[in-house]
Amino acid sequence: MRRLTCFLPALLLALTLAACGVSGGEPEAQTPSVPEEASQEPEAAPEPPPYAILDPTVMPEGGVRDGVAYAAYDGIVEHLFFHPVIAYPELAFDGDNQANGLDDYMVTVGEYNKILQSVYDKGFVLVDISDVWSEATGEDGQPKMVRNTLYLPEGKKPLILSFDDTNYYQYMLANGFAYKLIIDDSGKIASWGLNPQGNEVVSRDLDAIPILDKFVEEHPDFSPFGAKGCLSLTGYEGILGYRTQTDTQNWTEAQEASRQREREAVKPIIAELKRTGWTFGSHTWGHLRLDSKPLEHIQADTQRWADEVGSLVGPTTILFYPHGSRPDGNDWKNTGPVFQYLQSQGFRVFCSVGIESFSYIKKDICAVICDRLHPDGTTLRHSRERYLQFYDAKDIMDTAVRPQREISWAIE
Ligand SMILES: [Zn+2]
Repeated sequence: MRRLTCFLPALLLALTLAACGVSGGEPEAQTPSVPEEASQEPEAAPEPPPYAILDPTVMPEGGVRDGVAYAAYDGIVEHLFFHPVIAYPELAFDGDNQANGLDDYMVTVGEYNKILQSVYDKGFVLVDISDVWSEATGEDGQPKMVRNTLYLPEGKKPLILSFDDTNYYQYMLANGFAYKLIIDDSGKIASWGLNPQGNEVVSRDLDAIPILDKFVEEHPDFSPFGAKGCLSLTGYEGILGYRTQTDTQNWTEAQEASRQREREAVKPIIAELKRTGWTFGSHTWGHLRLDSKPLEHIQADTQRWADEVGSLVGPTTILFYPHGSRPDGNDWKNTGPVFQYLQSQGFRVFCSVGIESFSYIKKDICAVICDRLHPDGTTLRHSRERYLQFYDAKDIMDTAVRPQREISWAIE
């Protein structure tokens, strides 16, 4: 279970080979030949500071690490998920036909900053979703999921973060969101985009991912194991702002060449995200409703996600249901054909959306179902009580920039 950053180069090489379609056969040379001029390159990218990723399922030796006492934790692991955050509310809430949807499902950068500060102040610490449950062998010899005991700094509570649709969809770009992730001059993940005046902006303050990176730099005790969040990716408009998708309707050589360039361009971003505690899950290629699509459609979609997204980010055991819609009608009472198929493709943790961080280990198949809470305009307006353990919507919601719509607590 212990993951160390020093294993990453080998992993990356394997992923790069997989991405290039190298299957079977050995790479030609064990040591890639480096062109002469490469070593004389005057402006090499700065070496980023080392980043340690630790395993929360292992008690530190003597129960203490860096002077902090650790204790076993078997309680609820809270799970919050966000969509991309709104960098420029004046573009998001400009009264066009997207404005109410963005108000329902998103938070602004200002609100997100306050939420991070609040969960930090309330004693939450970040854990990665893939460390919370593991696959084990049951008494009957069959594989099953088990909930791991976590060893946390004494008095702290674990929190999973996930981020849906971190694809930087075309429709969002003109609506006040960052356009893509890049690596900035300091070697760190930043966002690139256009401000309302149309000028290019590279920043670490305008997108949920670099904002969390910065928050952890400033508050390292918020992430004692180095975990950040799990990025839930579709594939139909590429990933992380790079147009790595295919189109089956019409495909030219020029489009394929462009797609390959985008694939190359996103690889260092993925590598740096992984190195600094981010992990990846599937949100299906086409943002499919898993409760109603035919099985054949879901099978083709799953294959396409593996080909176009999995080939870049690596395999994952985490599936985030689009629209929160559960396969086969009810995924924790039934284990229907869609669920069985998805499980056979390697998924073990199936995440929906709900009113609490509910989780349920299935008895008849090796899988766990978990619900996530959703900080967004809907819950800021109407679910203040339920979210008080994380933050008070009254302190968070930016009523000055959001549309003038109903707020339950304002009229209580
Ligand atoms: Zn989604």
